[in-house]
Amino acid sequence: MQGQTSYNATMKKHKNIYLKNYTSLKVGGPAETLLELEEDDDLVECLQEITGQVWVFGSGTNSLISDKGLPGTVIINNCGKFKDDDTTITADSGVNWDQLVQFAISKDLYGLELMSGIPGGVGAAIVGNIAAYGQKIADTFIEATVFNLKTQEIKTLIKNDLKFDYRTSSLASKKHDLVILNATFKLSKKPTMQLEYDSALNVAKELQLIPHSLKDRRTIIMETRKRAGSLLTKDAHATAGSFFKNPIVNQEQVDSILKYEEAGISKQQLLRQNKIHGGSSVRVSAALVLLAAGFKRGQTWGNVRLHPDHILKIENTGKAKAQEIHDVVHFITGTVKSRLNIDLEPEVRFIGSFN
Ligand SMILES: Cc1cc2nc3c(=O)[nH]c(=O)nc-3n(C[C@H](O)[C@H](O)[C@H](O)COP(=O)(O)OP(=O)(O)OC[C@H]3O[C@@H](n4cnc5c(N)ncnc54)[C@H](O)[C@@H]3O)c2cc1C
Repeated sequence: MQGQTSYNATMKKHKNIYLKNYTSLKVGGPAETLLELEEDDDLVECLQEITGQVWVFGSGTNSLISDKGLPGTVIINNCGKFKDDDTTITADSGVNWDQLVQFAISKDLYGLELMSGIPGGVGAAIVGNIAAYGQKIADTFIEATVFNLKTQEIKTLIKNDLKFDYRTSSLASKKHDLVILNATFKLSKKPTMQLEYDSALNVAKELQLIPHSLKDRRTIIMETRKRAGSLLTKDAHATAGSFFKNPIVNQEQVDSILKYEEAGISKQQLLRQNKIHGGSSVRVSAALVLLAAGFKRGQTWGNVRLHPDHILKIENTGKAKAQEIHDVVHFITGTVKSRLNIDLEPEVRFIGSFN
């Protein structure tokens, strides 16, 4: 089913190629047409030429794409560049996120370094308001240029337009027709020691690094992520990272989580976790919620399992279909609802149709 023809200088065009080749969960049926854009390609030119339905992805690390595939044209956006102007950096949406972080560090700019090592592209980072170790996109985001697929207009959206919230923005809605072309961030030259997570502070202590210089801050985070299994490595099973958002719960639900011994956490610890996860005082760790609902690390359903150490990571152990993962997710959310009355929401985006 796979074919390839040359579209222009670097862009590759495929017909009916399986999208599982482009997602970190290694699932996804065929794209009717797929365009792979490389660094020097022009996303706007490409969008202007396409007629019919358009889907834009970066590295496919936050998407569960249906086995039925996607009609129309799928763009794998790896094109673009970045530039800096004093403390401001503008990056095209196809730029790899971690390359942008490293670029900011090379320019002595603070504000993105704690988000080192998050896989994916700049476009999806904005859509999902990515966050790690106390930094999030919304902290430094200034504006984005977007292309409207319906009107072909290009316009600039400022921070208020994007309505950033915990792991989401207005662009996460399935209803919009906007493709992010580039984004601008305002960073700082002022060094900071800010680092709250115990796991990262322990790594800093062990490596005898003070979380002050940008280089050391990155080293601490990369090592912490390595130990937490949060780096996307080729040898690991296919995954999309943490599958669920930390849910908002009421006091009664907090108490029901604490009742479960396996959760092994005091109320004080739980509330501290809420704070550093960047949520309101009632957002709790989804991993604890899974444990409290009776799920086990390493629990397996056919080709789908919960990571043996990191229960929030759903893995495709080899031959899973998107539908199988979808069904496991529904089983988990249903069980959590019935046992704890908590609404667990996937962080991963479901794309296309499922049964
Ligand atoms: C091992 C691992 C660790 C992770 N750790 C973290 C973490 O610490 N913190 C965190 O927040 N996330 C984390 N993630 C999740 C993931 O890396 C982020 O959500 C990332 O931003 C996804 O980028 P992507 O390019 O792969 O997204 P994709 O899956 O390609 O796209 C995600 C969504 O964004 C849309 N999109 C992509 N580009 C554009 C564009 N230009 N315009 C409009 N819409 C667009 C897509 O249509 C899709 O709906 C992790 C994932 C993995 C696998």
